[in-house]
Amino acid sequence: MTNKRDYYEILSIPRGASEEEVRRAFRRLALEYHPDRNKNADAEDRFKEINEAYQVLSDAEKRAAYNRFGHVGVSANGGPRGFEGADAFGGFGNIFDAFFGGFERRGRSEPRPGRDLEASMTIAFEEAALGTRQDVGISRVEICERCKGNRAEPGTAVKECTTCHGRGEVRRSQQSLFGQFVQIAACPTCAGEGRVAAQPCTRCRGSGHERRTRKIPVTVPAGVEDGMRMRLEGEGDAGSPGAPAGDLYLVLHVKEHRLFRRDGVHLLLELPINFAQAALGDTVEVPTLQGRASLTIPAGAQSGTLLRIKREGVPHLQAKGRGDLLVTLRVVTPQSLDPEARRLLEDLAKRLEAVDGDDGDKRWFERVKGACSGGQP
Ligand SMILES: [Zn+2]
Ligand SMILES: [Zn+2]
Repeated sequence: MTNKRDYYEILSIPRGASEEEVRRAFRRLALEYHPDRNKNADAEDRFKEINEAYQVLSDAEKRAAYNRFGHVGVSANGGPRGFEGADAFGGFGNIFDAFFGGFERRGRSEPRPGRDLEASMTIAFEEAALGTRQDVGISRVEICERCKGNRAEPGTAVKECTTCHGRGEVRRSQQSLFGQFVQIAACPTCAGEGRVAAQPCTRCRGSGHERRTRKIPVTVPAGVEDGMRMRLEGEGDAGSPGAPAGDLYLVLHVKEHRLFRRDGVHLLLELPINFAQAALGDTVEVPTLQGRASLTIPAGAQSGTLLRIKREGVPHLQAKGRGDLLVTLRVVTPQSLDPEARRLLEDLAKRLEAVDGDDGDKRWFERVKGACSGGQP
């Protein structure tokens, strides 16, 4: 290890070279020394050297260690720390595949988990606030009921795949920029399983899976809101034998309510009152999520006054307790009056005039003008 060449020297770059310069130098040299293209006796050794230098200098952490401590900084048991060598990629061809965008490597040894699914569910306003239990219909991939996923017609044998000899993967030669490469891919005959059914299952045609429509029972907790996503573990597509199923993500849509709206855990209600109630005060019953509650309107209440009924809101999703019911008063002016009501109001109008004095209107205008211009009233 003492006669190792400097990594910067190997790639012919200055110590301050940028990431892009490191990458460019590696591409150029790797192209030049790849053993499939360069038939000189030392090409393979040079190529390994170039590759090792690149592995260290392209990794910020390894490069920093190398800059401080030299080869010792990145070496452990004679090899650079964290670097597994060309062979770990399955030969020279694959190190290039990994470097230049790569391939999906999967063999029999890696059971594939099932895919995650997404579905949506529409629930009523009250159901979101108070919780509900209902079924959601989905279509998903499941293990074939007939062959239990082993792909063969029941009673018939499953044999080793003759294409890949049970390995689940095949090596293919491929022409590329750098010459001939060996690429590893899942075996097309057995789809990476390593085994094939002599007589494929008639229900799933040998796939081991089948698509089914299911109703999944869902417990929606109290306090959810529109747009929230619930994760139902293991309710997605089935995986390959031995691998876990995917999850089901459920997006909740909450319908609007005729009376209520929500602000988190608080329930909002607009309450129309007449101006006699506003002026004199009143005690009224208001609707709540689960019944009714009594509300006291104070005398002299204005339109827009906010009143709070404690703990009549929506339960906290993740904690104890619940929000409040916030009632906004809206004073409604009558649009038609019977003669008696009209006479009473005319009397009231005279009475209010007397209280305000002759210049009541004038004073009011002055106040509004002052407020609008921001000046003193
Ligand atoms: Zn089957
Ligand atoms: Zn095969």
